[in-house]
Amino acid sequence: MLLFKNVYHIATMSDTRDRLCGADVLVEGNRIARIGVDLAVPDGARVIDCSSMLMIPGFVNLHHHFNQTLQRNLPATQNRKLFDWLTTLYGIWAGLSEEAVRAGTRLACAELLLTGCTMTSDQMYVFPSGVGGDLIGAEIEAATELGIRFHPTRGSMSRGRSAGGLPPDGVVQTGAEILKDSERLIERYHNPDPFAMVRIALSPCSPFSVDEELMRETAQLGRKHGVLLHTHLGETEDENDYCLREYGVRPLAFLERIGWLGEDVWLAHGVHFEDDELDLLAETRTAIAHCPTSNMRLSSGVARVPEMLRRGVRVGLGVDGSASNDTSDMLGELRNCLLVHLLAEGSDAMTAEDVVWMATRGGAQILGREEIGSIEEGKAADLVLFDMAGLGYSGALSDPLAAIVYSGFEHRVDYTVVDGQIVVEAGRLVRADEASIAADGNDASFAMLEAAGIETPWGRPRS
Ligand SMILES: [Zn+2]
Repeated sequence: MLLFKNVYHIATMSDTRDRLCGADVLVEGNRIARIGVDLAVPDGARVIDCSSMLMIPGFVNLHHHFNQTLQRNLPATQNRKLFDWLTTLYGIWAGLSEEAVRAGTRLACAELLLTGCTMTSDQMYVFPSGVGGDLIGAEIEAATELGIRFHPTRGSMSRGRSAGGLPPDGVVQTGAEILKDSERLIERYHNPDPFAMVRIALSPCSPFSVDEELMRETAQLGRKHGVLLHTHLGETEDENDYCLREYGVRPLAFLERIGWLGEDVWLAHGVHFEDDELDLLAETRTAIAHCPTSNMRLSSGVARVPEMLRRGVRVGLGVDGSASNDTSDMLGELRNCLLVHLLAEGSDAMTAEDVVWMATRGGAQILGREEIGSIEEGKAADLVLFDMAGLGYSGALSDPLAAIVYSGFEHRVDYTVVDGQIVVEAGRLVRADEASIAADGNDASFAMLEAAGIETPWGRPRS
């Protein structure tokens, strides 16, 4: 049992977005058991003084590619738009291995947990020919070790260059291989129960790397097993041109035609949608994973998120892969989200609280997790706490919740609690060593770059 005592400020993210001051939060097992003032200390409970802490529900990250943490900030992909960026990276990803996936996952999950994320999705879509092993199994193992709640998605690419797609043939698989492995992953790892720590979803990569038949069959397979569907859509103008040329319609109309819209679908990006397309998203309950940093980094554009919210589209937040961000800083993503929309759509576009809601409750609902995303009795104990007494938030406490979005320069939490377990304490990972995760990430990154013939003239830091 954990008793968070006398919490300075709680932003519950309940339906009425209640804020509490000076309340206690009792965690029993994996749930929030009681919230109240001056709760008695149960026998055996660990008491944590929270008199300078802000408590919020953990953030939910809707889109990532963990393996890309090993190729972030690569000079050859700086100052590139999506299609050129991808074409450079495909060659490096051809050297992906189970060991590299494990290193990338540990790195990404460590950053996510340290910046307030308690539940994350990931899309692994590169399965190079000749590479054996269970790449998604390795991700699940690493994420479970660090203690994050995890929705891995089985990505896929079936349309290589010789079939008119963008990726080289060496990193695509046949539809039959993809579907067989997708079914294996669902049967082995998917847990449909409330409070589950691992759930699988299926995620063909994009309209320009997957064939139409596989898209249809993936949706059928996902619906047969009751798992969610995910893909990239509406990210760039190049994608619009590609879909018009190949399918005769814009990307969203293509998805509609092949039965890919619905409450069980979430789409990464959604930058280039017209008004009627936003209405179609709202009508069909199809959700968007908004990735503002990646959209800025690749000059993809600004997703019309305030307009989506006004029209009733379900929107959550994602950091996207680290090769287009180039970090898994979840709190940083909230800041970028707020600032880009204040710039693009005006000073009343959205509030800091709106962004926190999207990144907690909004994301949890999109992943079908009503038991997660708010601080209420009976809900999952997925919580993060920030010490607000320090330098970064000094002078900003007239609104303690907005302070973490507008102010602060470190973005590191003091506590992260997932499923009732403390996995970050005093700003450090509890279950893993940060220095060794960083060193392993560098080893795996340099090995992949060297194998791909990419020069790294500056060498490594000396320890
Ligand atoms: Zn992505």
